[in-house]
Amino acid sequence: MDKKALFEHVSHLENQIGELYKELGTLKQHITQLLEENHELLVENGHLRTRLEEEIIPQQMDSPAEVKGNPSPEKDAQALRVGEGYDNLARLYQEGFHICNLHYGSIRKEGDCLFCLSFLNK
Ligand SMILES: [Zn+2]
Repeated sequence: MDKKALFEHVSHLENQIGELYKELGTLKQHITQLLEENHELLVENGHLRTRLEEEIIPQQMDSPAEVKGNPSPEKDAQALRVGEGYDNLARLYQEGFHICNLHYGSIRKEGDCLFCLSFLNK
């Protein structure tokens, strides 16, 4: 290998290393973004789980075998509470989150979710 070829080879390597270094910087930025996003999602998930425990579990504990045509003040209060829970879930859905059992609390990335909609229509 003559001296000129050797010099060109080293220059070429130098360029390649420069490119790799830039790429590494970009990847590092991506990782930082992902870590931030992951942190936000964890916090959000925590909030949503708290809300789930507050709203859905009391509803599930209500007796499903409700006798129709027998309104009582107690039942009215129950219906009101369920209505509030429904409004909160509908709002959550409008804000772009899943409220279905499958993906509860995660962000809806692909528009409407059939599971959520069928849940809302119950
Ligand atoms: Zn869903």
